[in-house]
Amino acid sequence: LGRKLNAALSSLNRAPVIDDKVLDALLKEVCAALLESDVNVKLVSQLRQKVKAKVKATFESAGDKVKETNRKNVVQKAIFDELVHLVDPGVEPYKPRKGHPNVIMAVGLQGNGKTTTCTKLAVHYQKRGFKSCIVCADTFRAGAFDQTRQSATKAKVAYFGSYTETDPVAIAAQGVAKFKKEKFEVIIVDTSGRHKQESELFEEMVQIGKAVKPDMTVLILDASIGQAAEAQSRAFKETADFGAIIVTKMDGHAKGGGAISAVAATQTPIIFLGTGEHLTDLDRFSPQPFISKLLGLGDMQGLMEHMQDLAIQNPDRQKEMAKKLEEGKLSIRDWREQIQNVMNLGPISKIASMIPGLPQDMLSGSDEEGAARMKRMIYITDSMTSAELDSDGSLFMDFAKDGKPTQLTWRVTRVARGSGTSVREVEELLCQYRMMANMAKQAGGKNGWMQTMQKMQ
Ligand code: GDP
Ligand code: MG
Repeated sequence: LGRKLNAALSSLNRAPVIDDKVLDALLKEVCAALLESDVNVKLVSQLRQKVKAKVKATFESAGDKVKETNRKNVVQKAIFDELVHLVDPGVEPYKPRKGHPNVIMAVGLQGNGKTTTCTKLAVHYQKRGFKSCIVCADTFRAGAFDQTRQSATKAKVAYFGSYTETDPVAIAAQGVAKFKKEKFEVIIVDTSGRHKQESELFEEMVQIGKAVKPDMTVLILDASIGQAAEAQSRAFKETADFGAIIVTKMDGHAKGGGAISAVAATQTPIIFLGTGEHLTDLDRFSPQPFISKLLGLGDMQGLMEHMQDLAIQNPDRQKEMAKKLEEGKLSIRDWREQIQNVMNLGPISKIASMIPGLPQDMLSGSDEEGAARMKRMIYITDSMTSAELDSDGSLFMDFAKDGKPTQLTWRVTRVARGSGTSVREVEELLCQYRMMANMAKQAGGKNGWMQTMQKMQ
């Protein structure tokens, strides 16, 4: 979906003038891309009409004064806003509070990823300082408790369940009561997903809900179910009235459009996306960054989320880094530290896709290749002197006004030899550093890293 939308929008840049014909053609492409990824037909036609009306109104009110570039921006913004609107019901989801037993109940059909997501959630909150645990109230599926036990043990999260008790309501009530007494702060209740009859499942869900009184009920929705997502989410909304959605399996060939339709149908916000089978494959969801990433505009906020993990570990150092970055004072030494941090954060492909303007070839290929490339970058910087590391790269080369390097100095050759790499590799690294530094400076200001870092504290 992202690639198609991106292509449609870049065709906009090639059009010499923006008239009705160009707009219609563009909207046709955008709508086709949305339909193809399973967004509900009605939603798509609404979007088309809204964008058209918005663009027309803006053009008309400004008369002939709108320049072509501005016209393009108007169109782009209208599409962006309407797409954001699709995934943003404007409802604030529940936020767990510290020092309080926050009960979260997961519901959804079997196989949608409930048990996996429960563990991911527990890990997520545990990392953020909440004492977290899981209650397995699935007595329907054979081996359900074993699955919880295994993944919770792996995640080092407390769990509760039973091999002998067959009443899910009793287990849920016991588990939640026990963990409340033990002062757990996030108590996640995993439920069963399928019964012989659907009405039985819903009845069970209602009973568990009555027994544990969840602060938040989350619908776990598989991204790959496509158009069925809408009906499924409506059915669950009527009986379980969930307050948040987590869409799983976004890493597969899923066409996320079904999930988008589910949000619109139930007016419930998505809070996380599941992006893989590992415990850390859970991304916080927010509408604007999601759409801007979809359109190929980068995801600064997602990157911030990862930076937040670091900030928790070392808040002062990260604040200092953010300040330096914004002021354009980040040295090669600081940059190296950031690269090492990124290497510790997890799969590089994920981080890379969040950084706007990063050349695709820099981190393309597998995560192993990306990691190997990063390691080489560290080797190269290891061969630099202290003065070189503390510099902004200008010791190594002269830069033309446009930021391109002109004259390399002997230092480049020395570092290449010392690190067992090539002059070209060292030059590339320096250019990447330079690009990053410029980009960060531009990203500074209103939505800068500093502000974001402070908001996180
Ligand atoms: P449940 O029946 O709803 O509890 O679903 P499970 O948690 O048992 O998950 C069903 C299958 O989906 C398992 O094989 C999981 O590993 C897989 N799964 C869950 N979430 C994700 C995800 O985000 N991405 C991928 N690729 N697989 C997932
Ligand atoms: Mg399960």
